[in-house]
Amino acid sequence: MAPMTQKRVSILGATGSVGLAAVDLIQGAPERFRTEAVAGGSNAAALAAVARTTGARFVAIADPGQYGALRAACAGLDAELAAGPDAVIEAALRPADVVIAAIVGIAGLASTLAACRPGVTIALANKEALVSAGPVVLARAAAAGATILPVDSEHSALFQVYEPTRAHAVASLTLTASGGPFRDWSTARMAEVRVEDALKHPNWDMGAKITIDSATMFNKGLELIEAARLFPLPEDRIEIVVHPQSIIHGFATYRDGSVMAQMGAPDMRTPIAVALAWPDRMETPVARLNLAAIGSLTFEAPDPERFPALALARAALRAGADRPAILNAANEAAVAAFLDRRIAFLDIAAIVAETLAAVPQGPAATLDDVMAADAAARRFAAAAINRRRAA
Ligand code: NAD
Ligand code: MG
Repeated sequence: MAPMTQKRVSILGATGSVGLAAVDLIQGAPERFRTEAVAGGSNAAALAAVARTTGARFVAIADPGQYGALRAACAGLDAELAAGPDAVIEAALRPADVVIAAIVGIAGLASTLAACRPGVTIALANKEALVSAGPVVLARAAAAGATILPVDSEHSALFQVYEPTRAHAVASLTLTASGGPFRDWSTARMAEVRVEDALKHPNWDMGAKITIDSATMFNKGLELIEAARLFPLPEDRIEIVVHPQSIIHGFATYRDGSVMAQMGAPDMRTPIAVALAWPDRMETPVARLNLAAIGSLTFEAPDPERFPALALARAALRAGADRPAILNAANEAAVAAFLDRRIAFLDIAAIVAETLAAVPQGPAATLDDVMAADAAARRFAAAAINRRRAA
């Protein structure tokens, strides 16, 4: 085989579920990749372990209080260490061919924007950045000459089956949803859900925030908005179907009746590999799909009554402006409160709905607009959370 040039990769959110899956792929293909920078939130030991396995040249921890712990844990490593939010931005600015944006929440927005530089491919897992600040992120990437490739499995599927040059021939795009752990639970039963129940996802092993989002189906709501950003199709031509086995991740329905679907085991290493190797393909350790062993694939329509997140997201997407940012910020605040056991499971969607109704609509044309909307939504949501605790 002809020798290939190594791609320089930086991983933002390197200690998370997506970050570690990326590390696994990079470690398995040293002839293809070398790690430039890794950044994490506050777990110094986990970040140091990643720095050690990847040989990253620059290691950034967002929590400045963890700098000492990072230094101690990185003893003997030939890497530059830094701490604080600016250090995470610096990690995004280091010379790289691919930046994996895998920080969770709006906390990943600034570094995703910083990663937008000429010739850089941004492998984007951080869907909250695209939901809240879609037009800002896409404009920044286009102006800088950066390419955004989706890592979210459904969007990776659509990226693989959707031909932009034949967009006029596409009738609709469909995202599949596992339905989460409460797919067939009654609302009354969901009212009693404990944090432990919601953290048990049937198919995917993911970070806590997205696991709760999967249980409420806000994850699919966010993904609907994410899809509309990435594949410019009107909201009413992006559909969601529940598919409990998570084997088909997304499909494009062409006007001639052809349906192009992408399939794969529910393992994030496949969509990450698609973005890492693009436009090539790479070998991964992901188990080959054995359809005979799986036996049957089933599908059902999502239930809007039990999962109000979907209609809230659709309405936010239709309304545009700052509505997606408000929805995202209220959801982030409510999920954090649920994980802290300060509110009940069904309060999450209720708080998002209340916040959208209460905070007047504003613009989302600039980063300042988005951050102002995010802050306004968090202020209202915090009060709504406190009212419930007092009740
Ligand atoms: P996770 O909680 O496992 O990891 C989050 C990472 O972000 C960690 O490395 C953490 O240290 C870092 N982080 C958190 N706050 C930070 C901050 N302020 N500054 C710097 N780093 C910070 O989350 P995850 O499941 O890996 O998800 C990451 C993103 O990918 C999310 O946006 C999620 O929606 C998306 N995503 C995840 C999956 C999955 O399978 N896990 C699938 C699709 C999309
Ligand atoms: Mg997804």
